[in-house]
Amino acid sequence: MNFKAPPKKSLGQHFLTDRGMIEMIVLAVNPQPGDLLVEIGPGQGAITLPLLRKHGQLTAIEFDRDLVVPLSQAAHGVGQLTVIHKDVLEVDFTRMAGEEKLRLVGNLPYNLSSPILFHALDHAAAVRDMHFMLQKEVVDRMAAGPGSKVYGRLSVMLQAYCSVTPLFDVPPAAFRPPPKVDSAVVRLVPRTPETIGVDDPKRFADVVRAAFGQRRKTLRNALMGVATSEQIEAAGLRPDARAEQVEVAGFVRLANLPSAERVEP
Ligand code: SAM
Repeated sequence: MNFKAPPKKSLGQHFLTDRGMIEMIVLAVNPQPGDLLVEIGPGQGAITLPLLRKHGQLTAIEFDRDLVVPLSQAAHGVGQLTVIHKDVLEVDFTRMAGEEKLRLVGNLPYNLSSPILFHALDHAAAVRDMHFMLQKEVVDRMAAGPGSKVYGRLSVMLQAYCSVTPLFDVPPAAFRPPPKVDSAVVRLVPRTPETIGVDDPKRFADVVRAAFGQRRKTLRNALMGVATSEQIEAAGLRPDARAEQVEVAGFVRLANLPSAERVEP
């Protein structure tokens, strides 16, 4: 074993050791010839090496300097692995994809999972799909629908731009060291620009943030300074409803109202 450094808690290092789970992730990704696979946080190569064995080629982005050389050594003779030593939040996926589209894979560091998801969303047009392992509680929030206690900003933002499919759960015992929480693997497939329907992504993000900023308040109160009761009604929503009752399309309609009708904060 080339990997000598102990797992680093600060980098969310919980290495996957369960062979069955690793195999299920590789099967879910199901790489095809020509795919541009990019792994976020390859760690000690638990998913990297099986993917390389199947696909022959992979780019991996790893922030921990101690892992870069041993990982490259471990890939020797298995396939062509390019390790980029960088914080994934600084990686320009659009530039990396060029004319192609990327397939992102990763057992993500849980402390950074939301920033990584939003970073990937910023580059959604350059991404074909994503297979991520996350805290199960986060996957539940990502996939939740209106009326659910965990339906919130993350659900609306992700579902507006992607289809979100939870695939399977992974218990703590599948990792070394085991995390304190259950995990789950989720598939995200960015929608095509024609099917997204959001006219102004910044306005949409502002509306969703304000609506869920005070989720116990009615839309009328939570959106004060962002949209009037008349606008809320014009979008087909009830001003006395709460954000957690509004479906994704309702937020899209509200954010898409013509700018002349908007209330400047
Ligand atoms: N893929 C490996 C596995 O399944 O065993 C490791 C997964 S571990 C949960 C998360 C990995 O992400 C670690 O290798 C960690 O060093 C790396 N990481 C943490 N923060 C990162 C960042 N900002 N950019 C890139 N990689 C990061």
